[in-house]
Amino acid sequence: MRVIASLFCTFLLAAVGGAESVKTDAARLTVPPIAPPVVSKPLPQLSQQMIDSWISVWQKRLALDDWKIEAKIVRAHDLPENAVANIHWSIPTRKATVKVLAPIDSTLKASEIVEDTELSVVHELIHLSLAKLPLDPNHTDQEEETVKRISSALLALDKHR
Ligand SMILES: [Zn+2]
Repeated sequence: MRVIASLFCTFLLAAVGGAESVKTDAARLTVPPIAPPVVSKPLPQLSQQMIDSWISVWQKRLALDDWKIEAKIVRAHDLPENAVANIHWSIPTRKATVKVLAPIDSTLKASEIVEDTELSVVHELIHLSLAKLPLDPNHTDQEEETVKRISSALLALDKHR
């Protein structure tokens, strides 16, 4: 069963304090100071733009330039059970679609979601890099393990530069 992170349902409205300006010909009016609004720290949000930029960077790094890769943020029901991402591709058309799980359906800590999603994008693109290899569709464990190790290693290199 999935736990929906209700934290993400909270939208913070930026309070516009002291936006009114009064023109007066008289001497400057003194305005009582307005207390700053209490705004809790915004949660890291995943945007389509972030995902598209990761796709663009990692597509180049992995020499997948001849692919047209689309990315979508989707709800849990749009992915296999317990998956946080997946990829579909067509070798004849060179088109691929990466789907990543929307934060609202994630069971991760809010602070982990952005980095984990970039890792998922890299992971799925490595699957695409291997697409033309003669892999055994009935025994994908070894492939999965290898893709995990390569994607983690690449991301660790990228983050510790
Ligand atoms: Zn995988």
